[in-house]
Amino acid sequence: MIELKDIRKVYNLGKIELEVLKGITLTVEKGEYVAIIGPSGSGKSTLMNIIGLLDRPTSGVYKLNNVEVSNLSDVELARIRNSQIGFVFQSFNLLSKLNALENVELPMLYARIPPKERRQRALSALEKVGLSDRLYHRPNELSGGQQQRVAIARAIVMNPSFLLADEPTGNLDTNSSIEIMKIFYELNKTGTTIIMVTHEQDIAKHAKRIIRIRDGMIIEDSPVAERITY
Ligand code: ATP
Ligand code: MG
Repeated sequence: MIELKDIRKVYNLGKIELEVLKGITLTVEKGEYVAIIGPSGSGKSTLMNIIGLLDRPTSGVYKLNNVEVSNLSDVELARIRNSQIGFVFQSFNLLSKLNALENVELPMLYARIPPKERRQRALSALEKVGLSDRLYHRPNELSGGQQQRVAIARAIVMNPSFLLADEPTGNLDTNSSIEIMKIFYELNKTGTTIIMVTHEQDIAKHAKRIIRIRDGMIIEDSPVAERITY
């Protein structure tokens, strides 16, 4: 469970202080599927980076599975992040010199999982995203949708409790976006908690709950009336 209480983020730019999160209070239970929407610059990615332990808030309390994470060291945060959180970004962030299989094996290399198990788990993750026939392709030999599916396989290979996706379909055409949304639907159905940033209304409707952010504040938090399912 994710519990944020009065989370603020201030950037210090010389003499100017820029408050980009102005007191975010939010609880996301296990198994939820949340879409975060809002204008460019409203603080969505900043919030996602804090939730994903990639960044720290300036103030406020953040509890992840009842652990207050604000006071943990960088090493402890990295350990929680690697074991519990998967990330998917708009720009895929794959390593260009590695093929699909090697990209997916990477997080397990960091976690010191033995080679044989790494291979097995990577194969199974790539199968889940429908890419068993593209194992040895490098990113530049894959379509955008396929690259994003490799990124999803990499994000889920450690069986994270939480999947955080920042504009996961931002660079994709409609058909590829639907493929990604089908994968998210299955992941959520099998227990993964998903938080996804999107600016597309049709994508947001795949979530169960929509949170609207404006100018660093939550201005709406409501269930999705006509959810798209598969
Ligand atoms: P978009 O939809 O364009 O991705 P966003 O809602 O994700 O926008 P953020 O990336 O969270 O917006 O940025 C929120 C505000 O914080 C922006 O005004 C941005 O300029 C500012 N900002 C983000 N990162 C930094 C930083 N490292 N230093 C200073 N200001 C920053
Ligand atoms: Mg952003």
